[in-house]
Amino acid sequence: MSFLKTKNFLSLILVALAAFVLLFALSACNSSAPSFDATFPIYDINLHYFPSTHTLSARQQTLFQTPLDLSSDDLIFRIYANAFEGGKIEFSSIKLNRTPVQFEIFGDDSTILRLPCNQKGELISVDFDYTVTLPRSSTRLGYNDSCASLCCFYPVLAVYDDGWNKTPYCDIGDPFVSACSDFYVTATVDSSLTVAASGSIVEGEVFESDGETLKTYEISAENIRDFGMAIGNFSTLSQTVRLSTKDVDVSYFYTDDPSPSATLSYAASAISVFSQTFGDYSYPTYALAECPLDGAGGMEYGAFATISPASSTAYQDIVVHETAHQWWYGAVGNDQINSAWLDEGLSEFCTCYYYKLTGERARFDREFSKISSSYGDYLSVMSPVGFNATMQRPLSSYLSEGEYTAVVYQKGALMFRHIYSLVGEATFLSSLRDFYSSNKFSIATISSLTSAFSSHNFNIAPILNSWLYCKDK
Ligand SMILES: [Zn+2]
Repeated sequence: MSFLKTKNFLSLILVALAAFVLLFALSACNSSAPSFDATFPIYDINLHYFPSTHTLSARQQTLFQTPLDLSSDDLIFRIYANAFEGGKIEFSSIKLNRTPVQFEIFGDDSTILRLPCNQKGELISVDFDYTVTLPRSSTRLGYNDSCASLCCFYPVLAVYDDGWNKTPYCDIGDPFVSACSDFYVTATVDSSLTVAASGSIVEGEVFESDGETLKTYEISAENIRDFGMAIGNFSTLSQTVRLSTKDVDVSYFYTDDPSPSATLSYAASAISVFSQTFGDYSYPTYALAECPLDGAGGMEYGAFATISPASSTAYQDIVVHETAHQWWYGAVGNDQINSAWLDEGLSEFCTCYYYKLTGERARFDREFSKISSSYGDYLSVMSPVGFNATMQRPLSSYLSEGEYTAVVYQKGALMFRHIYSLVGEATFLSSLRDFYSSNKFSIATISSLTSAFSSHNFNIAPILNSWLYCKDK
């Protein structure tokens, strides 16, 4: 774990803010104004978690530039806490540029927060005061006997691309399209608990307040796609991974893991191996937290992942997969709602490929034959009842988790394996290195992927078309 000095925390926010305002001022007097993506939104969140009621209260300031091509008279934030059964977010105040504003919450799952605003390309501050109630569940947002998972708890500015993204939350897959942002979070919790999170953490002194014994953590996580956090009675282990351009502090927060040192070493190894293969990891820290997850082995966030307690043999696959996501989803983003195969298929491919990179060639082949035969089995059983193998389609169109897993993970990994075999290892790796460096901190598309291979004289567009849109196999 990396510990910043406390007084540097405010400086970080001020430096980020100054850079933001300077860029904004430059853009205002320059005809070639930066695009919306030129500066990241800044989230400054001060929260207090109450373990007895499983609630958190928070004050959040979000600073950003409105889209230059804003064609509506509103700003949209997504409030995913309302999507979880038993979970909710309630606002006591919302201010736009320090003025109270009327707001509207709508959508079938009440995850769309609308604020009136018609200012194009303006620097905007939105201040929220809110309370989040956690559901009892083992998912992105909720508490269980082991820990509290606090991901998706905060209002997040919707992505704008010819209109605000208002796609409803979906229980299948990762129903998000997220822009990179800078997060500065102050979390106050009972002193008996430990906070694991995206970014660098400063652990404060224990103090008394209103009869409670508390501790404050100051967290800074810059250029990340989604801020993730877990709170629990964690034990911790950490180690430093030395890359060609920097050192990375890798931390593991665990509760039940029988071999925590091994799990930490899987994460550290994956950071090192994928950095050598695709380009250095993009962040100064990486944290894993062991949190029970219903129906999933792990969940990825920016510079952070949760992994579910697993059998000892499964920990390695889960950790390597979630760590691969730091390249595909984390640094290189994608539309996870309509193109889930891009980050999941590629991360699943990388999970298998990791074993080849670490000298276990037989395991690489074995993992792919398992995926191939599992996908073939699913296809043969489900085809008679109307299995849809189309990869490029929205999460809401999948009939079950089984179909989603088969199409997105298994067929996705097999597609990348096919491309790898066709273009050869050298071209494949050079292309992915370009894909990573060219799309870091932005949202990649199908054409971004084809461009990366085209620059190495290989046209994968016909291959992608035949795999992504084939309904039958
Ligand atoms: Zn994944």
